[in-house]
Amino acid sequence: MSKDKQFVKEITPQQEDFSRWYIDVISKAELMSYSPVRGCVVLRPDGYEIWENIQRELDRKFKETGHRNAYFPLFIPESFFQKEKEHVEGFNPELPWVTEAGGEKLEERLAIRPTSETMIGHMYSNWINSYRDLPVLINQWANVVRWEKRTLPFLRTTEFLWQEGHTAHEDEADARKETMQMLEVYRDFAENFLAIPVIMGQKTPSEKFAGAVDTYSIEAMMKDGKAVQAGTSHYLGTNFAQAFDIKYLDRDNTQQYVHTTSWGVSTRLIGALIMVHGDDRGLVLPPKVAPLQAVVIPIGPPKTRDQVVPRAEQMFYELKKAGIRVKLDDNPDQSPGWKFNEYEMRGVPVRIEFGPRDMENGQAVLVSRVTGEKRPVRLDAIVDEVRRMLDEVHQAMYDNAKAFMDSHFKSIDTIDDMKSFLDAQRGFVLAGWCGSDACERQVKEETGATSRNMPFEPEERKTVCLVCGSKAEHTVVYGKSY
Ligand code: AMP
Repeated sequence: MSKDKQFVKEITPQQEDFSRWYIDVISKAELMSYSPVRGCVVLRPDGYEIWENIQRELDRKFKETGHRNAYFPLFIPESFFQKEKEHVEGFNPELPWVTEAGGEKLEERLAIRPTSETMIGHMYSNWINSYRDLPVLINQWANVVRWEKRTLPFLRTTEFLWQEGHTAHEDEADARKETMQMLEVYRDFAENFLAIPVIMGQKTPSEKFAGAVDTYSIEAMMKDGKAVQAGTSHYLGTNFAQAFDIKYLDRDNTQQYVHTTSWGVSTRLIGALIMVHGDDRGLVLPPKVAPLQAVVIPIGPPKTRDQVVPRAEQMFYELKKAGIRVKLDDNPDQSPGWKFNEYEMRGVPVRIEFGPRDMENGQAVLVSRVTGEKRPVRLDAIVDEVRRMLDEVHQAMYDNAKAFMDSHFKSIDTIDDMKSFLDAQRGFVLAGWCGSDACERQVKEETGATSRNMPFEPEERKTVCLVCGSKAEHTVVYGKSY
């Protein structure tokens, strides 16, 4: 990455070049930097803090639903991968190997984990003996590596941070309940924390996780109409239990295989929230994850600073004490106008302007990053007013994203109509599918769009297959994706 890209002066407008806009924004807002290692980015403090906020809330939700955290090794012996056929086929092309260490060739190559089903399966086979040991509900926060051909900061990187839940259950019903429960946790989190509306559904067999019986996902639409798979939850059946011999003695004293699940979200969520909410002025951060939720900017002629700044400071402490992530920027070397642009570019949800006239009137002016609304509020109610505006910003962001998704979504019956739609505008297509691999492949070949998922609650149940015209077994959302 050349220096001029790292120090972007102007942000490319979204309409001109969305990809360029994205890179400009994340560089200028200092969320990340490219590293010298291909496909690996550095999360700078503002980017990492978004991840920490995501982590904190998800961790709370995982614990609330009975899970505990553990940590498993980064290295996985090659023989582990050979045990589950589909898993090895799916992940082999993306595995980096450690073949030498301490100056010696290793007896067995070690993969750097792309996901931990195998290592965790091995451990569970030691830990689980009886139905009394079940369910096992464990989550791991970790880094993983997948040697991706195409990479894009946050959305698809070679090394990324994520959480992976791995659970083991007595029977299919219990494991399926867990799979759905965690998908619902992700939906709730995406919509109510990140203000990203998502489509919940099941992946088609060709798109499911290597080694899963069924994969479910939440899919989000970016502002260029492309899809991002924002989270996945897998029902793994007894596939890994058989491969790793995870058996238990059931209530009737017979040996049974456990049923397992796994589920994960990653730093990809950061890329998604930027592409869903950002605009030509820069980032627009959902208040619940924004490192900075509000910024207090004293305004007015320099000679009034001595009175205004101490009162602004008082307001700052009051907000901080109330748990709002707030900053006071009273740097006299930069103009208020410069600061307004800067914090808008950084996506701070609420700006608080405070000048001598406001002080006289016992008020401050709140400005919403999303609507631009300027709202004078009483100083003695500042905490409640800022909280209220943060809630309103969240809601407006969600509503805008939902309206965008709805207006870029079309129910379509023929592949020609799908092509015309995708040529004319970007977005998702709702269409019928007969269930054959051939028809699914043809959609991809002819349109470049892939099946995102089979939504649980489509607007409409489609009756004919988009490609062959025969009876549709499923209703599918198609879209071009990152
Ligand atoms: P998976 O284990 O393949 O189901 O992946 C779990 C989640 O990790 C996916 O739903 C994505 O959100 C995310 N993910 C997968 N690959 C990458 C990648 N290369 N970079 C960032 N996130 C990823």
